Amino acid sequence: MENTENGKKLRVAIIGGGLVGSLSACYFGKRGHEVHLYEYRKDIRKDELARGRSINLALSTRGRRALAGVGLEDKLVSHHGLPMYARMLHMTDGSTRAVPYDPVNNQCIYSVGRRHLNQSLLDEAEDSYNVQTYFEHKLINIDFEDGKLYFRRPACIRNCYPSGPDYWALSTSYPGPEQTYWPDKAELIEAQADLIVGADGAFSTVRRLMSRRPLFNYSQQYIEHGYLELSIPPTEDNQFAMESEYLHIWPRGSFMLIALPNQDKSWTVTLFMSHQQFKSITKSDQLLEFFKTNFPDALKLIGEDRLVKDFFQYDSSSLLSVKCSPYNVGSRAVIIGDAAHAMVPFYGQGMNAGFEDCYLLDDLLHNHGLSLEDALEAFSKTRPINAHAICDLAMYNYVEMRDLVARSTFLWRKKLDTLLYTLAPSKWIPLYNSVTFSHMDYSKCISNRAMQDKALKRMLLAAAVGGLGIVIAVWQKTIRTYLGRKL
Ligand code: FAD
Repeated sequence: MENTENGKKLRVAIIGGGLVGSLSACYFGKRGHEVHLYEYRKDIRKDELARGRSINLALSTRGRRALAGVGLEDKLVSHHGLPMYARMLHMTDGSTRAVPYDPVNNQCIYSVGRRHLNQSLLDEAEDSYNVQTYFEHKLINIDFEDGKLYFRRPACIRNCYPSGPDYWALSTSYPGPEQTYWPDKAELIEAQADLIVGADGAFSTVRRLMSRRPLFNYSQQYIEHGYLELSIPPTEDNQFAMESEYLHIWPRGSFMLIALPNQDKSWTVTLFMSHQQFKSITKSDQLLEFFKTNFPDALKLIGEDRLVKDFFQYDSSSLLSVKCSPYNVGSRAVIIGDAAHAMVPFYGQGMNAGFEDCYLLDDLLHNHGLSLEDALEAFSKTRPINAHAICDLAMYNYVEMRDLVARSTFLWRKKLDTLLYTLAPSKWIPLYNSVTFSHMDYSKCISNRAMQDKALKRMLLAAAVGGLGIVIAVWQKTIRTYLGRKL
């Protein structure tokens, strides 16, 4: 076994059994460590009511490499992923336009079901890598010096909450203040670990506890827009209601609708707009009017009754970006996934970046002969720069998706990028391709784009100067001819 610390087998406590925590458990389990995974919610494999943040997600190259590292890429991508080769833009006049993600190599991203992915990762962790899982265990405190962890278990989940089963479903992304959610009768559980991996999401408790220590930097930003999930059912003959090999987008400037395909031939449709706009729609007829004006084609596919039911069933959810550093506490703890770098979802990279964390951390811990502390320090030194870069890119892409994507300047830039990418595929990699279809450091993707912008400006300037030279030459010739004639 190639373990860090001269082959020492570690007792690893992973906090959070979401996508990143369960993949991380597979990685540590694969290396022969003793892995205990603690999850605040009920086991989603047994809980029909569990509701995650988004029903499906776009999986791309970084996430696929990380899944391949534990032998899951084929199982999850070939058997479950639905390829999306292009954005399909739905314009206000009802026309549609496909904008391929990679017209040169025809690469695609995959729509995968969050629940299926999470269930498969948990199954794999338990069955193939002997990971011990503990559900309904909420981490409440850590003693970083001794490696002690403290959890609470609810004594009576269903009976304790007045709002019944839905409470459990709705509280997944924000565990909230202790006193609200955890009744007096709750059990207190103690555990011990050599290494604590915080994969407990955007509202991470591990991160909160780390932030009490000196020299921990942290910032968070909510955007003014939220989201709400709707759906398009399969057609009567059980087919997709729209062409399935696309990520459909209805860009409308200050808001947008997107749709990703599901295995059962339905579509998950997400409406992104400002919280204020969500709040302003309080009645069915207002909602229908809004859709008739802005998304008439989508309304036909969703159906009026379904739209009204889905729209008013839940409140819109918030979107948050989190940056922090360092990611480790000595050799004792490290944070990964949304716990370290939650981002707005517009580059489709949150999960992919979290999966990449698992891959990179495993590499540093096991392939470079580093001590545990040095490996965690190295992760903490390199990863935040790249995580901050993708958080920024995701913010930028929000404007691109809902607004710029429909503009002719965007489409011309895409064409120019494609032309240069075709002529020099190893030298001119467009930004979207480097983020989505490569393993290039996210910060390098940004600096690359800055260089490309500079190069394009120079080319345009050269073309303009060249053009001006021709104009002057023609003008001089005309003048000379004119004067010659006159003389
Ligand atoms: P989470 O999925 O939040 O999991 C954290 C887990 O920790 C949860 O199960 C939680 O119950 C548990 N937990 C929390 N606190 C405690 C505690 N105190 N004790 C024990 N357990 C605890 N990413 C993409 O790559 N592609 C996409 O297309 C994409 N689309 C998205 C669309 C939307 C609308 C949103 C909101 C996000 C999207 N993302 C996408 C981002 C992606 O969902 C996240 O990056 C990903 O879920 C992060 O996984 P995680 O395991 O780090 O965190």
